[in-house]
Amino acid sequence: RTVYVNGDYLPETEAKVSIFDRGFLMADAVYEVTSVLGGKLVDFAGHTARLQRSLSELEMVAPCTMDELLAIHRELVARNDLDEGGIYLQITRGAAEDRDFVWPDPEKVPAGIVLFTFAKPLVDNKTLDEGIKVISVEDQRWARRDIKTTQLLYPSFAKMQAKKAGAADAWLVEDGFVTEGSANNAYIVKDGVIITRQLSTEILHGITRAAILRFAREAQMQVEERPFTIAEAQAADEAFVTSATGFAQPVIAIDGATIGTGVPGTISKRLREIYTEEMRKAAI
Ligand code: PMP
Repeated sequence: RTVYVNGDYLPETEAKVSIFDRGFLMADAVYEVTSVLGGKLVDFAGHTARLQRSLSELEMVAPCTMDELLAIHRELVARNDLDEGGIYLQITRGAAEDRDFVWPDPEKVPAGIVLFTFAKPLVDNKTLDEGIKVISVEDQRWARRDIKTTQLLYPSFAKMQAKKAGAADAWLVEDGFVTEGSANNAYIVKDGVIITRQLSTEILHGITRAAILRFAREAQMQVEERPFTIAEAQAADEAFVTSATGFAQPVIAIDGATIGTGVPGTISKRLREIYTEEMRKAAI
């Protein structure tokens, strides 16, 4: 693979970052994952808007413009001949001279930037036809989940607990209500109404979530943005999760309880179809 690191396109084996990079030492970094369909970028504008918000919330200065970022994404797609999959982008607060909790002056220490591509089937994907099982785990992340930082130890820990329990993913629960999945937004469907937690600092503002809710409303589906419990989810007709590289993914069991009839629900499937079709058309 050819990757991008601090201004250079290099073979992945030659790419290097400093051991003093604050992304490495402190997870002082933000990231985005943009999916690629037919060699084109899906919802790039959404991802750069969220990236700029993450950067500004952490008083980080982007190392390049969003137009330059677009050019880098396209160059990586071309150099890696990528048809379907995604691009990972990480911006860190750079490599200061020493390890210090105090942020370095961005005039003296420029942000670090790394991008790499990955190939992955997004449309024809067997787990999506069958749906995934999830377990619930207490949400023990920090309180600013609306900022997309690389502090992924807890989500990774939660996902391992799911794996050990024979499930594919974990739904995180705080004060009795589901916040979101380890790396996706969570939804249930009851009597035709799509229910998902409202935006706040407690969850990541999913780019796929925004598109899915827009398409659902355009298709005259009813949407309710409010918290729900695991018990309510287990009694729902359908459940699903959304993320840039998973689109809308059906959930068929929660903590061992089968959802609906145990097969992906019709609304989840329909939303997945609409999303795939619309995003293929709009990709740039
Ligand atoms: N919530 C969390 C915690 C995530 O990590 C992700 C994926 N990065 C999402 C939701 C989904 O966001 P998006 O649709 O922008 O990929």
